Amino acid sequence: MRLLSQEELDGLLPAETAAFPGPIPTQSVSSDEFMPAPQTEQQRRVEARIKALGSALGQTHGMTRRQFLATASGMAAAFVVMNEVYGTLYSASLAEAADREMAAERAKSLRDQFIMDCHTHFLRDDTRIMTFVRQRQAVGKAGWNPALADKEQTLEDLKFANYYKEVFLDSDTKVALISGSPSDIPQDWFLTNEMKAEARARVNRDAGARRMLSHAIFTPGQPGWLEAIDRAIADLKPDSFKGYTIGDNTNKQISKYPWRMDDEKVAYKGYEKFLKAGLVNVCVHKGLFPPSIETQFPHLLACSDVRDVGRAAKDWPQLNFIIYHSAYRFAGGGRVEDAWGQFEKTGRIEWVTDLAEIPSKYGVTNVYGDLGQIFAQSTVADPRVCAAMLGQLVRGLGADHVVWGSDAIWTGSPQWQIEALRRLEIPDDMQKKYGFKPLGPADGPLKNAIFGETNARLYKYERRAALAGDRIAAMKTEYERAGAARSNLRYGYIAKAASRR
Ligand SMILES: [Zn+2]
Repeated sequence: MRLLSQEELDGLLPAETAAFPGPIPTQSVSSDEFMPAPQTEQQRRVEARIKALGSALGQTHGMTRRQFLATASGMAAAFVVMNEVYGTLYSASLAEAADREMAAERAKSLRDQFIMDCHTHFLRDDTRIMTFVRQRQAVGKAGWNPALADKEQTLEDLKFANYYKEVFLDSDTKVALISGSPSDIPQDWFLTNEMKAEARARVNRDAGARRMLSHAIFTPGQPGWLEAIDRAIADLKPDSFKGYTIGDNTNKQISKYPWRMDDEKVAYKGYEKFLKAGLVNVCVHKGLFPPSIETQFPHLLACSDVRDVGRAAKDWPQLNFIIYHSAYRFAGGGRVEDAWGQFEKTGRIEWVTDLAEIPSKYGVTNVYGDLGQIFAQSTVADPRVCAAMLGQLVRGLGADHVVWGSDAIWTGSPQWQIEALRRLEIPDDMQKKYGFKPLGPADGPLKNAIFGETNARLYKYERRAALAGDRIAAMKTEYERAGAARSNLRYGYIAKAASRR
């Protein structure tokens, strides 16, 4: 019942032994959702240059390459190398890479930025997708702590603890929404709706502030799905609902209940209940359906693209439709080269451009684009594709309709993604040719809107001041002060957090 066959699994090396643990991933890494794309020629060059530059700069500070690459200067060095290989897209200088104080100063000046990540995951204890759990644990993890291996039997704590550490301690994320994914096989849900609500309760209770929000998943067409919505609203009080039009995304071969967002007889009955409960944000998974997957499951195409979004948005102006992954087609087993080829030939990228055109085509203002996977996969593999898609989404949906989601922790701590967006700019020639507006400074109005302001507005998130004085803030300060000894202390902090349950 796995998406990957045994043969495909055998072809994958465990990422923790094979992947180079640099500050940013230099290879696409698989989640449970897809086969990783092979490392491109450019990614190979990036990796080789990061290693060389990391060794050279590390030496000047009396540090090993690995130690150096875990510092703020190491992060800057990675983006300097990205610019060498792809052209100047990231704000990063060799001076910042060489001068540890300068890099630390910059990181400090941005650490209080309000980042609200409305697309995060961890996996349940009894998941059957263990291969991917092991892979995920290693992804993008500069400073993997081998001592944690001893705790691998207590998978639930390890998984939750790891999520907690990577999101709240290793990154500048202030607030996270825990999401999930359904399946026609109950055990294959990433987390049940109850588990998501429990995680939210546990984190917020431990922190003493509202650090976590939670999805409940709705499954139109499945037996009892409307009653399940009623129960979730009454018992779990989700912050919003999320649905998968593709039905069962994990086990596509058995997906029995795909649905359309504009189906008056089915989906609209759910929207009615959301609206009545005051839950106006409707999140929908779209995209991650490259041509290779379409060949296997042609009947699921109509539920993976965005042809059903416009009418639903028009019929339900009181609801906000937040399209996850911004419907980017080429993640989940696709190739970023195909996205770039499409863009060069036609100026379009499936189905991001289609999504961006919905407001003008349908005269609606209630369609939003989430950046989960679309940002991670494109910024690592070809930042020009990333810049083009951000340009189109901002132009078409509006600067206040593009929202931060990292799909962490599939690709490790979201910090490298946060740094990538802070530093990314659309190249001048692309701005001129396509009429894209610049993204602006790391903490300028546009990036602040994407990182957190718009999500805060959508979810009416208030009492931000409480975040500065809660237990997570205190823990993070202590964690950072521990500095070089950090990796040895990680487990201790996590155990403390876990034992308070
Ligand atoms: Zn996701």
